[in-house]
Amino acid sequence: MDLDNFRIIAAASKKEFSGFIDNLADRIPGNMPEIAASADKAVWKKIQCLDCANCCKTMTPAYNKADILRIATHLRMKPKDFISRWLKKEKDSEAWVNASSPCQFLDGNMCTIYEYRPEDCAGFPHHDKQPFEAYISTFRKNVNHCPATHEFVAQLMDKIDLG
Ligand code: SF4
Ligand code: SF4
Repeated sequence: MDLDNFRIIAAASKKEFSGFIDNLADRIPGNMPEIAASADKAVWKKIQCLDCANCCKTMTPAYNKADILRIATHLRMKPKDFISRWLKKEKDSEAWVNASSPCQFLDGNMCTIYEYRPEDCAGFPHHDKQPFEAYISTFRKNVNHCPATHEFVAQLMDKIDLG
């Protein structure tokens, strides 16, 4: 994955893709779950996360209590030590997030705590989550960072005629 090239493509298509997502938010088709599932299936024929890892390099997951306990236990750390070493509280949401990026658990393009990773990482990029409208602001934000979500939105643009 050429991430420099992706950034150029994402910047060039930002206005068009954001406009489509905004229009879609107002006019979500009744069969959206089926359309989203079909678009997501097409995405993974083209995109390999192990060639990318841009989410781990440039974004942060939110860690819930269970994530912190599970990962700290795996690392044989006390949860409070885990928090003070790697996390900070996000201002708006008050969620625990990585204090710095890339993620401290990334090695090359591999997650070194893959089996114990936060739920947020395991569910990313959330294309198949329902209801679709609950994730549309997430897709709007991620479309410029995640090649899979960029392709997902491109697939939706092919499949949905908003006139
Ligand atoms: S989820 Fe998106 S940003 Fe993360 S590795 Fe896969 S394609 Fe890249
Ligand atoms: S915990 Fe693993 S999957 Fe999640 S951001 Fe860090 S390296 Fe990526």
